Amino acid sequence: MQASIDFQLIWGAPLKAEIFSIGTELLMGELTDTNAAWIAGRLPPLGIQLQWVSIIGDDLDMLSEAFIRGMERSDIIFTTGGLGPTQDDLTREAVAKAVGETPTVQEEVVRDLRDYFSGRGTEMPSHNIKQAHLIPSAQFIPNPNGTAPGWWTERDGKIVVNMPGPPGEIHPMWENQVAPRLRELINDEVTITRNVKTMGMSEGAIDEIVGEFFGRENPYLGIYSKADGIHLRVIARAKDEATARLMIEPVEVAIHERLGSYIWGYDDETPEVAVGLALKEKGLTLATMETCTGGYLGNSITDVPESAGYFKGGLVAYSRESMIAAGVPAQVIDSHGEVSQETAMAMAQTVRRELKADYGIGIAGTASPTERDPNGSASQVRRAAGSASDRRSMGTAYVAIVGPGGTKEMELRVPPRRITIKRRISNNALIELKKLIAAG
Ligand code: AMP
Ligand code: MG
Repeated sequence: MQASIDFQLIWGAPLKAEIFSIGTELLMGELTDTNAAWIAGRLPPLGIQLQWVSIIGDDLDMLSEAFIRGMERSDIIFTTGGLGPTQDDLTREAVAKAVGETPTVQEEVVRDLRDYFSGRGTEMPSHNIKQAHLIPSAQFIPNPNGTAPGWWTERDGKIVVNMPGPPGEIHPMWENQVAPRLRELINDEVTITRNVKTMGMSEGAIDEIVGEFFGRENPYLGIYSKADGIHLRVIARAKDEATARLMIEPVEVAIHERLGSYIWGYDDETPEVAVGLALKEKGLTLATMETCTGGYLGNSITDVPESAGYFKGGLVAYSRESMIAAGVPAQVIDSHGEVSQETAMAMAQTVRRELKADYGIGIAGTASPTERDPNGSASQVRRAAGSASDRRSMGTAYVAIVGPGGTKEMELRVPPRRITIKRRISNNALIELKKLIAAG
């Protein structure tokens, strides 16, 4: 590779980038492009300005044309996909064609590939030789998690970064190799973000409360509605990190003063991690019983490493029978309905008592208006739903939390999509639990 192009001299302004997601299956709708979004989210902190995202099929001419055009209008092109061993993977060939260079086999990579396969107890298929080809302007980006090494090509002051398709290979390649190299190139400006996560106030209300900060470019304030509430993201660009943090501070202070009790977390924190930390800190345990979330609550809690230290267990009580078998009094269910605040509270109390946990969460809701067999336990659901049809329709849930910090009861109504119901209600329960632990 050409030794020492001084990219900082060439680039005064922020680097302009584009992303190519390569693969015919993406164009056919058979595969959803998640790679571009993943990469896009990592560029602002590096001060790289993304301008285009394209999906391009596995076609040599179209690809090389795209590389030629991309190298004219952008400083850097990131690609994913098309580095496999099969004949339809043409990304390398297209870069070579675009820059007019001929790939040659690199013996040391052939050796690495042979080792990779023999480590898996097989011989290297002859087609994999393709993955050991390189052009003079390119360097390999090692891929410890797969057979396709990436390519880092520098030509005429432009960079092309080719990465494999599987997210599990791209993510470590990016963190360990691509991002550090990019940081070296671009050290004249930093972008710092602070993400403040709230729950319980609507997007419109928040918009009003911190309205004066919107519409400014630097620091920039963005508002995003997510499954775990409304996020406020402050982004500042400056010559160094300390200056960028100083720019963020007054906005963050204002957000705190005006939204204090609605804030539950920051940056990459998730509800389940926040709850885990809070429980661990106080040496407390948790047990859950859930209906409409179908185990999503227990799943989230156990996504956290070492959750076994504080999570006693969770029950998906998907019928009246299972609630009763778990110890929920039939009389509570019968007099208030399966979808009721009283039942949620009985579920929380029961599971807390039976599993000897400090905190119990009960979620009694419905993810579907006519889910049950009409001769079975549906009568309870429908009685509840029928008696106050609007109030207890799909997407309505009652949450109860009991523990040393006190009790919390909530009626939630979320958009009637099953996955939305599961996520929102679980997240809500966890965030309220975190607040209760903090108060207790
Ligand atoms: P390829 O390197 O093009 O053969 O892609 C290998 C695999 O990576 C595909 O079968 C997908 O599972 C995954 N993949 C490729 N491109 C993308 C993309 N843009 N978004 C998400 N996954 C992808
Ligand atoms: Mg492909």
